[in-house]
Amino acid sequence: MTTVRHEPHETSAAKILTGIAASRGYASGSAVIFRTEQELQISDFSLSPDDVSAELERLENALALTRIQLQSLSQELEKRISGNEAAVLNGQIMMTSDPEFLAPCRKLICDELQNAKSAVWHTTQHFTRAFAAMNDPYLRERGKDIEDFARRLIRNLSGGGEDRIARFTQPCIVVADDISPGETIAMPKDKILGLVTEKGSLTSHSTLLARALGIPAVVGVANCLKEINPGDELLLDGVSGKVIHNPGASERKAFTKVVSHSKSFQTFVEEGRQLPGSTSDGHPVPFLANVSADCRMTDLPKVAAEGIGLYRTEYLWLSLNREPSEQEQEEAYTAAVRSLPLGNVTTIRILDLGGDKLLRGEGGTEPNPFLGNRSIRYLLKNPDVLRRQFRSILRASSHGKVQVLYPMIATIEELRAVNLELHRCMTELREKGIPFDDQIKRGAMIEIPAAALIAGTLAKEVDFFSIGTNDLIQYTLAVDRSNSAVSRLYQPTHPAVLQLIHLTVQAAKARGIPVAVCGEAAADPIFAALLIGLGVNELSMAPNLIPLVKRVIRQLPYAELQEIAKEALSRQSDSAASIATACRNRLINLVPELLYLR
Ligand code: PEP
Ligand code: MG
Repeated sequence: MTTVRHEPHETSAAKILTGIAASRGYASGSAVIFRTEQELQISDFSLSPDDVSAELERLENALALTRIQLQSLSQELEKRISGNEAAVLNGQIMMTSDPEFLAPCRKLICDELQNAKSAVWHTTQHFTRAFAAMNDPYLRERGKDIEDFARRLIRNLSGGGEDRIARFTQPCIVVADDISPGETIAMPKDKILGLVTEKGSLTSHSTLLARALGIPAVVGVANCLKEINPGDELLLDGVSGKVIHNPGASERKAFTKVVSHSKSFQTFVEEGRQLPGSTSDGHPVPFLANVSADCRMTDLPKVAAEGIGLYRTEYLWLSLNREPSEQEQEEAYTAAVRSLPLGNVTTIRILDLGGDKLLRGEGGTEPNPFLGNRSIRYLLKNPDVLRRQFRSILRASSHGKVQVLYPMIATIEELRAVNLELHRCMTELREKGIPFDDQIKRGAMIEIPAAALIAGTLAKEVDFFSIGTNDLIQYTLAVDRSNSAVSRLYQPTHPAVLQLIHLTVQAAKARGIPVAVCGEAAADPIFAALLIGLGVNELSMAPNLIPLVKRVIRQLPYAELQEIAKEALSRQSDSAASIATACRNRLINLVPELLYLR
């Protein structure tokens, strides 16, 4: 994925370095090299038993200092950004008092007479190894946060020392091996035009922060530190993931054109930000948000989200690494419900643990976790967990409009069993006089091909469908959604996928229930247009993508979308790529700005 391509040019020695487009935007300027942190010096010397209590005290002092540093960085961040990313250091702050991390450190000091730095480092390695083995790239990145925390703690045990402070006098593009969240925050924003790093991924916290701070970034650029020298001229394209090194006149000219198109596109998107979702001729298309527990719900009005279309509850489990108590769940769900204007719905999906979302220490026992004891299968085998979750959701439903969503439904028996459990929990609360919404709507996710094929039967037992394209595509095409080696085969416009969506919509229509789509494909404006044409009623996506997709849909007449969808469905023997191109071409005629969408 990360290659260095040498492109000869008549007048320049330009080279194109390719990496991951991590934070959208463009920058041109000269390079400043931000040097790698020195390897940590950790000696393994043993303590004498007499020194143990002093060493424990040293650890406590370093923890206190670490907490103060992190809190002050966090406050600085709160001032500069308002998204979820402002909470990026919360996990590290919590680690300063996390017994799961600190108990083994203290034990190594007390029982094995290890010095504090060595104890911290050994414990950290135990954790980072466990995270590195996880499939979910987001969770793998959380291991790096632990390492980042440990490095800071060890620096403080060594007598202090802040983050590598970037002291730049001129605006520049920073080139580094990797950058920690603390370093990203500490950078003078007015001097940083862009970031290029050798390491990093789409989900690393520094990348999330760069996005939130609006710093264009390309990460995972192999050998960039070898290729680029201080002062070299760079053109950074954070949309396509390219860095042009030592550009000539023609590269500069082409780059200026791309930047100007991008600005016009951004203006186009911003124009419709607060308008309601609909087609150009007034066919309503509500845009809802996909969220999880760590999301700042207060940001939803900024993108005019008309509710929560998917609350992924498993992240509560993952962040605590255990089942949250009924009270913890109730508080989290109620907070989400209360954060929305009255009348906006919160769609709470019951636990979708399994697959690539596993608790630490509980993975690795199934040969194929995506086809194993995942989600609804786990819940029906562990009805107490399901009941605790249902009771919490029901309690939250007394504070606003809530609907409950069942993931991974493959059979009518599962659907009936889970409905029965919900019914039992409602009876239990009613008998105890606990308030809840007894008209609460129940929905099934359609994310397994079998569910789409029996959608007519399922529709009789629920109030709505929500299509999970992430899994529907994975299971239909037998393509692991998280395996980059087969990502070219992961094709939303494959005729089989379109047929399954069509079947689902038809079954829902026949029964008079609405269909939402909450998979990532809904956030691709071209696919979203196709979905609306296919008869999907609402779209749910990551909040920051709502303005873009909504703006495009607001330009399109409904009848035209139906035509485009009809044509796509009729192309049964065409490739996914040619179906996608045909849709794109027709849509570009209606929304020329799509030309500039990259
Ligand atoms: C989906 O499968 O499309 C979906 C929204 O669920 P998740 O991504 O959480 O599996
Ligand atoms: Mg899914």
